[in-house]
Amino acid sequence: MLIQLEKSIPAQMLDNIYKELNHYGFKPSLVETLQAKYLICNGKKEADIRHFGNLPGVLDIHIVEDANKLVSRQWKVQDTRILFDDGTKISRDDLTIVMGPCSVENEEQVVKTVEFLKENNVKFMRGGIFKPRSSPYSFRGLGIEGLKFFSAHCRANGIKVVSEVMQVSQIEPMYEYVDVFQVGTRNSQNYNLLDELGKTDKPVLLKRGMSGTLQEFLASAEYIFANGNEKIILCERGIRTFEKAYRNTMDLNAIPYLRDKSHLPIFSDPSHGVGIRNYVEPMALASIMAGADGVLIEIHECPPKAFSDGDQTLDFYQARRTIRRLRETMEFRKKLMVQ
Ligand code: PEP
Ligand code: MN
Repeated sequence: MLIQLEKSIPAQMLDNIYKELNHYGFKPSLVETLQAKYLICNGKKEADIRHFGNLPGVLDIHIVEDANKLVSRQWKVQDTRILFDDGTKISRDDLTIVMGPCSVENEEQVVKTVEFLKENNVKFMRGGIFKPRSSPYSFRGLGIEGLKFFSAHCRANGIKVVSEVMQVSQIEPMYEYVDVFQVGTRNSQNYNLLDELGKTDKPVLLKRGMSGTLQEFLASAEYIFANGNEKIILCERGIRTFEKAYRNTMDLNAIPYLRDKSHLPIFSDPSHGVGIRNYVEPMALASIMAGADGVLIEIHECPPKAFSDGDQTLDFYQARRTIRRLRETMEFRKKLMVQ
């Protein structure tokens, strides 16, 4: 059961609701976000909810059988939209394209990428400055110094910054320079990190763990929400399977599944999902047809020279074509009115 409370509910009213819930055998947990207040009630089979629905301070009440209640569509039928101060939004009605290098390498690269994105009306740039690499000898990112010029060029051109945070101590120094915190696949179940991101007011782009089930993925999103941050984007990025022909297996099934089970926006990352440049565009287009609200794609002026993930990175010429086709595909999807 999930109870939506009046945002400014007086302590006494809340006490009274707790008493009633305890009396009927529920264990309520209070969740307070910037937008709203909720009581998540576990511990008992659903009782007659009308009894609680009439208590003062209760706005609405829902039976939610899903384990991850706050992110479930069982209580929130409308798709969640994420709004930014300048009016940019991430929503079901607009295709969100996020493009940029795997790693931020130098200022010139950022300038050229920003220019490319601006020309193509792409509103979000990705770029790693803390890189989780499989080998400790690989390039591990420029850190906050890189983020400073990355952010400055983006902001001067009206582009939003998406960058991965790997540990709790990085949240604070990154905060003023990013618009969206990315949580990578390797940190998808780092609950301490998710807790702390739940306490910020910036959107979190949460990737699915490479061996994570969709239940586990939704549970990770639930952590962020339960700590107070409702601005969460679920991002499918491919999973590990027995197949070795490509880097990961892009789980397109996840997109309609998550769409059905959760009200959160859904992105796909076909770059990591397939890991081979020539297959990125078809998987990006397929993601849109499967119902994704946005895509995250790695681009570089000269992919063979990229410091990381060059094999799955599009050059600007390819990226331009992919952007056009993504937009055409979204128009086509809207006409079909599927997903
Ligand atoms: C990335 O986006 O560059 C990245 C490291 O992604 P993932 O966490 O999905 O591997
Ligand atoms: Mn990468």
